[in-house]
Amino acid sequence: MTELQTDYLIIGTGAMGMAFADVVLSETDATMVLVDRYAKPGGHWNVAYPFVRLHQPSAFYGVSSRELGTGQIEVGGLNDGLGELASGAEVSAYFDAVIRQQFLPSGRVNYFPMSNFDGASDDNVGTFTSLINGKTTRVKYKKLVDCTHLKTSVPSTHTPNFTVADDVRFMPLNDLPKISEPPEGFVVIGAGKTGIDVCLWLLEHGVDPDDIRWIMPRDAWLIDRKNTQPTIEFFGDTMEAQAAQFESIASADSIEDMFDKLEACGYFLRIYKDTRPQMFHGATISQAEVAQLRRIKNVVRLGRVSAIERDKIALDRGDIPTTPKTLHIDCSARAIANVELKPIFQGDLITPQMVRSYQPVFSAAFIAHIEATREDEAEKNRLCGVVPLPNHDTDYLRFTAAFMMNQYNWGQDKEIRSWLLENRLDGFSKLAKSITKDDTEKMAIMERLRANSFPAMAKLQGFLAQLDG
Ligand SMILES: Cc1cc2nc3c(=O)[nH]c(=O)nc-3n(C[C@H](O)[C@H](O)[C@H](O)COP(=O)(O)OP(=O)(O)OC[C@H]3O[C@@H](n4cnc5c(N)ncnc54)[C@H](O)[C@@H]3O)c2cc1C
Repeated sequence: MTELQTDYLIIGTGAMGMAFADVVLSETDATMVLVDRYAKPGGHWNVAYPFVRLHQPSAFYGVSSRELGTGQIEVGGLNDGLGELASGAEVSAYFDAVIRQQFLPSGRVNYFPMSNFDGASDDNVGTFTSLINGKTTRVKYKKLVDCTHLKTSVPSTHTPNFTVADDVRFMPLNDLPKISEPPEGFVVIGAGKTGIDVCLWLLEHGVDPDDIRWIMPRDAWLIDRKNTQPTIEFFGDTMEAQAAQFESIASADSIEDMFDKLEACGYFLRIYKDTRPQMFHGATISQAEVAQLRRIKNVVRLGRVSAIERDKIALDRGDIPTTPKTLHIDCSARAIANVELKPIFQGDLITPQMVRSYQPVFSAAFIAHIEATREDEAEKNRLCGVVPLPNHDTDYLRFTAAFMMNQYNWGQDKEIRSWLLENRLDGFSKLAKSITKDDTEKMAIMERLRANSFPAMAKLQGFLAQLDG
């Protein structure tokens, strides 16, 4: 059996493992062993559907040390006028280049693709087995980094939690481009980001909106992509949205009133105005995409699917008819399946999770920086408070409160403030710092942001006490 020694044994070379390793490489002299079941880095992007794209700008995705994309503003299409969104193929090629051109030439990284991590013993020895040659390798490590915790689930690899009869036309969205004969109609199962992507793809390919039935167990609050642009020309959108968010929270009389205000100020969008969202997964969307989706009128709100049969679909609150010639598309995988929280630093185990809402790669890079620069475990965990992942609408309160607390703590620390300013995955600190005192309009936005942040935090605590009380 082969034996290796390393400082960090990193399990998972998805976006989080890659962002973590990148900072360890640039900020320490440590050695690393990277292990992953897939043949290439990038995690779930290896098995994503062919028409997948990032839903937030490429400008702040990937690893800290390398730009993703060219910073262009897209012209035409449903992301017109907004920062480019890398395709799945571009994201995969990017991570491959990071491994080949940066990690491996450093001489400090050993990469084992096509290998399953089997587990670790109490004396810091991890083992993994090649899925190709069956050989097992033992690794003596100082720290184990578990970048598999979030258990990202995508339609091509998950098992639906409903039954499908044999003669039903059913496929994950990955197989859509293989269609060779137009079906009688389409049923899209799921209303998260992948369900949205399928509906947009069908409409883009000229499918009549009336031929699409959209099974939507819950409507979702969505984030306007215009407000997530990390470059100066979008200051008035991005920072204004932040200020308006804090104002909305601070001035709300109730949780319901808070959501109303967040929608009225443009922070949240919803597709269908007549139904109150109950879900929030942080999906990001452009207004042009919302307008397209509203063309689909046939929305089924009868809960979750329990079975698809030859001539009917059974749902929690009733059945709807279907036909053998209708195509049923599975978009029911929950992107991040594991919402269990644990301390990020626990002895020799590091478990990267979110420390800033909606930002997995920034979070992994930040955690690596704290690992590289701080000693005391309690202090490291204080600086890396876990931001819970949202599911229900009210989870927005929990993760916003946790994220604001982290942001406050980071703001008190000079070294962290300057790291944030330099790190490309944090577009927003730079944006805030880029304005000059004579720019009165932008200064006014920053003043609103500052003035409302403490009142918003206090209000969130009050609402959370009501929810938990
Ligand atoms: C369609 C889609 C679009 C998205 N768009 C964005 C976006 O625009 N911006 C954004 O910030 N986020 C986006 N996300 C969120 C996305 O989940 C994260 O960006 C990120 O890719 C998650 O990376 P990860 O490393 O946590 O997980 P994964 O990509 O799942 O990586 C985990 C890795 O661990 C490996 N692994 C697991 N168990 C083992 C084992 N026992 N042995 C060996 N290897 C193992 C797996 O093979 C995998 O490679 C998107 C997600 C989806 C699904």
